Order: sequence, then structure tokens, then C-alpha cells
Amino acid sequence: MSDRQILISGASIAGPALAYWLRRYGFEPVVVERAPAFRDGGHAVDLRGTAHEVVERMGLMPQVRRASIGTRGMSFVDAAGRRRAGMDVATLGGEGAVSEIEILRGDLARVFYEATRDEVEYIFDDSISALDEDGTGVKVTFERGAPRRFGVVAGADGVHSVVRALAFGPEERYVRHLGAYSSYFTIPYPMSHDRWDRYHTPLGGRVVAVRPTVRPDEAKALFGFTSPPLSYDRREAAAQKRIVAERFAGVGWEAPRLLAAMAEAPDFYFDATAQVHVDGWSRGRAVLLGDAGYCPSSLTGLGTSLALIGAYVLAGELAAAGGDHRAAFPAYQDAMRGLVRQAQARAGGTGFLMPDSRAVRLARDVSLRTLPYVPWKGMVARKLREGATVALKDYSH
Ligand SMILES: Cc1cc2nc3c(=O)[nH]c(=O)nc-3n(C[C@H](O)[C@H](O)[C@H](O)COP(=O)(O)OP(=O)(O)OC[C@H]3O[C@@H](n4cnc5c(N)ncnc54)[C@H](O)[C@@H]3O)c2cc1C
Repeated sequence: MSDRQILISGASIAGPALAYWLRRYGFEPVVVERAPAFRDGGHAVDLRGTAHEVVERMGLMPQVRRASIGTRGMSFVDAAGRRRAGMDVATLGGEGAVSEIEILRGDLARVFYEATRDEVEYIFDDSISALDEDGTGVKVTFERGAPRRFGVVAGADGVHSVVRALAFGPEERYVRHLGAYSSYFTIPYPMSHDRWDRYHTPLGGRVVAVRPTVRPDEAKALFGFTSPPLSYDRREAAAQKRIVAERFAGVGWEAPRLLAAMAEAPDFYFDATAQVHVDGWSRGRAVLLGDAGYCPSSLTGLGTSLALIGAYVLAGELAAAGGDHRAAFPAYQDAMRGLVRQAQARAGGTGFLMPDSRAVRLARDVSLRTLPYVPWKGMVARKLREGATVALKDYSH
């Protein structure tokens, strides 16, 4: 079995991006995705720092720009909808809370999927159920399809990765709860909106927001709240909706309308705000990338960028090592470790987005109002950019 046959679990951002680079270097990637078909939709994600360069090198920046939302900034509003503070994209040179390229996760994933689907085998509606490694490869058992052998198995299957569970051990060892939960879903939003994300923070560690998409008749609703770990069934949307409704009972602004829309939401999502910390990102022939290996959490806005940079570096190191995973995996980790550490350190606390007291909220609003005028604004922007930047090797030879 040659290491050139590579199974990738997950067809969101990291998976198709890895498949893209592997194909370019002459590998034979196969992608397995649990969803029954390509998954559209999802929340808005950012492209930051070196991730721009990765997409440029893929030659896919025009497609990404065409699909991006064009978000102009974020506003914090009071219960009556009046703007209290905010930040436009330009304030921190596109490196602030809203980045220059905001794009729906599904729209970004589709760009990579479309760029690879003719040359890469995609298997939908299936999942790996067992990995048996021997000296020459890995026998992979699937929930539905017949078993197959691969040289390498890459887990690009998100925070609740099955590859990580099978090859590294149970999730509790690696997923770190950051003291908050968030829920996202699509709502009909017929008013023409001006491409500003609107957030309302009614204290008690809560935030409710409406964020534009590319379509003029819909928006994304967000509910977020601080909480110690809760016990609930991850497959039970009705119970999760009840948790959200209870936490936001009595909240003003658009919350009642959004909670009413939540009942009908086609794409309700609810999960803990979490980071993934795994000491070594490979075990034998299994390797992790993206959120599965080093999710920095939604508080950083860096998960998508790490997934894209990770895909580029992992494929490049495999190519540079002539397909030898024993050389490629440590080199991949060495190249990425510093960037991941910086990204995860950026999560900070939940006070900015989910303040629990008037004083914290006021401090946030005052600092946002003064930010455009402070002399060190450029330095903050530069620091943020550096935190998402790593020197990319050229693996094309
Ligand atoms: C609420 C929220 C808000 C966010 N906001 C931002 C933001 O503003 N900016 C930003 O940059 N990032 C943001 N992120 C993070 C961003 O979405 C992720 O970092 C990014 O999508 C990582 O991509 P990924 O491909 O590693 O994982 P994911 O996008 O999680 O994809 C994992 C894929 O694996 C599939 N899968 C899962 N289990 C299996 C299985 N057993 N078998 C096969 N397939 C499987 C899933 O269906 C999915 O398609 C946010 C995340 C969340 C949850």
C-alpha cells in the first residue's frame, strides 16, 4: 500500500482544501462525508492572514470574492435597536472583529468542492467506523460502504472528529469547553439590510445577533450565552432549542421574532464554544487538520484560516517527503504549531461578545467608540495580522 492513497474524513473547509493540494501533487485522495450530500449553509467565516495567500495560490480568489458577503462592520445595538458602538471593516485594516472577506462556510466549502469534484472521489452519506493499521497501510471500515485500504487517513471532520476518536482516544481528552454556547440558524429577513452585523448584548452573559448573508431576503440569527458545560443530546434539536428559548426569555430587540423563527429553522445549529488541544497531530498513519486537530474556537475568527493553511502545509509536506508520512507529519506539525498556539491564545474571554455586567459592556462600547482615533490603532491591526501569518514554503517542486 502506497501512502499516495489518502482517505480524508470531512468535506467542509479543511477536507476539500487538502484534497485540492494532494491532487495537485499527484496523490489519490478520497473524501468521505457523513452528510447525505454536499452541505451548503452555515454561518459566516473569515479569511485572515496567510489564508489569503493559500487561496491565491489555489487560483480560487476570484470565486471566493464573488461568493463573499461584503459585510461592512458590526454594530452593538440597545433593546430599541439604537446603535451604541461598533466597528467597520476598515478600522483595523480588515483584521478586526469583521474581516475583509466574510463568507458563508458552505459557500467557501463549495468553491473547494467544485474545484476538486471532477478529479477526487467524494463519498457522501457514510462515515469511518474502524481503523486497523498494519505495517503497510490502514484497513478502513465504513458504516455503509465496503472496507478499503489507504496509506494515510486524514481527519478533517471537525470538533467532534471520528478519526480523532478512533485513532487518538475519546473527545473529553481533547475538547476544551470555553464557558459558552452558541446557536446559529437561517431566518427569512425580507427587509433590505445594509450589510452590517447587528449584535444586542442584554447582559447576563448573553448575545443575540442578526448577520447578513449574500441573499437580500435572509439573514443568520445568532444566540450565544455563557454557561458551564450542559448535558444534552447532541442529536436532539428540540431540546437544544428549548435551552436557547429559556436563556433568552424576556430579552428585547429582535429576540422574540428570532426565537419564533427558530422553531422553523431548517439548519438549526447548537454547540459549545470550544477549543481542541491535541499534543501530537498524528498517530501512526492517522493525521488531524482543521478543527479536528486544533480548533481555536469561534471567539477567534481564525478556525477557517487555520484549516486552509493546515491543508496547504500537510499536503506540501507529504509531497516534499515523497509520500512518506513518517517524515511529513512531524514537519507539518513543526510548521504549524506556532501559528496554532497564537490563534488559540487569541480566544481571550467572553466579555466582549457576551458581557455579564453594565461596567464590562460600557468599557467595550467606549473602547470601540474611541478606537478609530487612537494613535496605536495601526499597531493593533499589525499585531492581529501577524497573529494569523506564517511563512509558506513553496512545495511546487
Ligand atoms: C458557531 C461558529 C461560528 C464560527 N465563526 C467563525 C468565524 O467567524 N470565522 C472563522 O474563521 N471561523 C469561524 N468558525 C469556525 C469555522 O467554521 C471552522 O473553523 C471551520 O469550518 C473549520 O473547518 P473544518 O473543515 O476543519 O471543520 P468543519 O467545518 O467543522 O467540517 C467538518 C466536516 O466533517 C463532517 N463530518 C463530521 N463527522 C463526520 C464523520 N464521522 N464522517 C465524515 N464526515 C464527518 C461534517 O459534516 C463537516 O462537513 C465558526 C464555527 C462555529 C461553530
